[in-house]
Amino acid sequence: MTRLNEIGVPTHLVRRLNMREQLVREVEIIPIQVVVRNVVAGSLATRFGIAEGTALPRSIVEFYYKGEGGQRPMVSEEHITAFGWAAPEDLDEMMNLALRVNDFLGGLFLGIGLKLVDFKVEFGRLWENDYMRIVLADEISPDNCRLWDIKTNERFDRDRLNRGPGRIEEAYQEVARRLGILPEGGPRDLKGPKAMQ
Ligand code: UDP
Repeated sequence: MTRLNEIGVPTHLVRRLNMREQLVREVEIIPIQVVVRNVVAGSLATRFGIAEGTALPRSIVEFYYKGEGGQRPMVSEEHITAFGWAAPEDLDEMMNLALRVNDFLGGLFLGIGLKLVDFKVEFGRLWENDYMRIVLADEISPDNCRLWDIKTNERFDRDRLNRGPGRIEEAYQEVARRLGILPEGGPRDLKGPKAMQ
């Protein structure tokens, strides 16, 4: 998030308080998940019967509506604007920002030997007096990104959940270690949450 702010992608992050807590701005969340894909995986593979791991000729952006009761139907720009979930100009901004995030994160993860297969992000409206800006308002983690090792295609994301207990922590810690954000003594060195006013 800090790096994204530095390249001009506005986010809800004000600052990190400690390893577990962040101070963020309150936004009006837009009920649309924006998914960017670089490689075929997950629901795209199932929907079109294309082998997982097939490289896409260009990045694909998809929208999913966060419905009541946890449904997540894929929707088009037409649905989003007709039902008033976002205005056409908001949607353009969300798409542009998501693609910039994709370029930035793709490079960041490539630098640590991981392929950014796909990810999901959400956006919110940040009001400052009468002025509104669309900002990224989500987490970025192996919970909402697919990350595969560039050499072995080993998965370092939540898809590992299907592969037995314990292994997901190892994978998430390995991503943190490669990014240089895991404390020297391992995860046990993390400070616990501290109450803030
Ligand atoms: N994703 C997410 N939250 C969801 C659904 C998907 O963060 O509720 C992420 C998922 O981790 C992947 C991307 O969105 O990086 C595309 O997911 P997909 O549509 O393939 O769905 P899945 O196969 O994960 O159900």
